[in-house]
Amino acid sequence: MTGDRFEVAVVGAGPVGLAAALAFAQAGLATCLVGPEPERRDGRTAALLGPSVDLLRDIEIWPALAEASGPLRVLRIVDDTGSLFRPPPVSFRADEIGLEAFGWNVENARLAGILADAARAQSGLTWSTALVGGFETDDLAHLSCLDGSRIAASLVVAADGRHSRVREAAGITTSERSYRQSAFTTILRHERPHGDASTEFHTGSGPFTLVPLPGRRSSLVWVTLPRHAERLMGASDADLAFAVEAAAASLLGTMTVAGPRGTVPLSTMSVSGYVGPRLALAGEAAHVLPPIGAQGLNLGLADVAALVRMLTASRAEGIDVGAEAGLARYARERQNDVRLRSVAVDGLNRSLLAGFAPIDAARGIGLGLLGGIGPLRRAVMRAGLAGGVSHPGVSRGRASAGSSRS
Ligand SMILES: Cc1cc2nc3c(=O)[nH]c(=O)nc-3n(C[C@H](O)[C@H](O)[C@H](O)COP(=O)(O)OP(=O)(O)OC[C@H]3O[C@@H](n4cnc5c(N)ncnc54)[C@H](O)[C@@H]3O)c2cc1C
Repeated sequence: MTGDRFEVAVVGAGPVGLAAALAFAQAGLATCLVGPEPERRDGRTAALLGPSVDLLRDIEIWPALAEASGPLRVLRIVDDTGSLFRPPPVSFRADEIGLEAFGWNVENARLAGILADAARAQSGLTWSTALVGGFETDDLAHLSCLDGSRIAASLVVAADGRHSRVREAAGITTSERSYRQSAFTTILRHERPHGDASTEFHTGSGPFTLVPLPGRRSSLVWVTLPRHAERLMGASDADLAFAVEAAAASLLGTMTVAGPRGTVPLSTMSVSGYVGPRLALAGEAAHVLPPIGAQGLNLGLADVAALVRMLTASRAEGIDVGAEAGLARYARERQNDVRLRSVAVDGLNRSLLAGFAPIDAARGIGLGLLGGIGPLRRAVMRAGLAGGVSHPGVSRGRASAGSSRS
């Protein structure tokens, strides 16, 4: 099989694939990105936590992104489950643990657009907008594209999303669990300032979360029953804005719809392996979590950071970048991290849906304690930020970006 030859080929030009291709090319690896330009318009945003911001800063796209991002300085949780054990709202403030913000909320379409502009301008990075149809290996990895072109590389990184074609062609299997919930997303403009606070209402059908964007705008993730999500998709702008305002108990005053809408069924997906011969999975090709606790893309960017470390170490030691030992290290590191996060997100979602008095009570007592005991609250905040996206070493000696915007 012949074709253009690279050290690394990244499949999928979503946020994870774009960030990976940029990082690899900047590390001096001859890189090819394969996949159509991103064009999803569903009002989805991502709250990027400190280590993700560090990575984006390392690949030099943070200055352009910072202006488009809303800082999350306060996280407020309101129990709206109707539980008998309903605790008062609990607020977590970033400055209680010495941070300027917990993270930064940015529209996925803006993030992808800025990454795509940077990828087009990056030397050492070739971008083919073809779709990949096949993946094979011998002493190299080979991609065959639907436009008839072929690409060979020492390593393929599959970042082609939850229905990854490359993962399937490599024989890596998945297990999925569906939650009988959907996540409805859009962007709203509102009368009152959000004060850089993200507010999460815990309801009996899932969390309803408003996350700050620059100006008097917030993004919405409304986890609800699939039929309700479909009704929200079909509602007029005025009816939708009114429904959101009512669900938010008019916290931010009158609302208007200010972005596209999307809905996605809630599910988790895990894979039988993160790697194969000359292959590493990254982002949603490797793990899908419900959109609770801002984990998904942060985990995908942590995959990228781990791959950069693995590839630069292999290169420094003069080892083939697709060699088994490096891939095994990557798999070990990421598998544990993602497993821990998945269990935590799943547990929180199930506790909301349970409607079972002892679980309601435990959640109510837990939130009540967090609200009342400062040291406990601070310990939980640090644990929440530290675990899921830690990737020490990728940031070139900088403090965590949670503390700084510039
Ligand atoms: C409602 C909601 C809210 C969320 N909020 C957050 C949040 O606050 N924080 C957070 O960290 N995460 C969040 N997430 C998760 C986050 O959106 C995803 O983890 C992230 O978008 C996945 O990016 P990706 O690049 O892995 O996959 P995708 O964005 O799916 O990109 C995959 C790319 O691969 C391409 N592709 C597919 N097949 C092929 C092929 N055969 N050949 C070439 N290219 C191909 C596609 O065109 C696409 O561009 C949220 C998710 C949802 C549903």
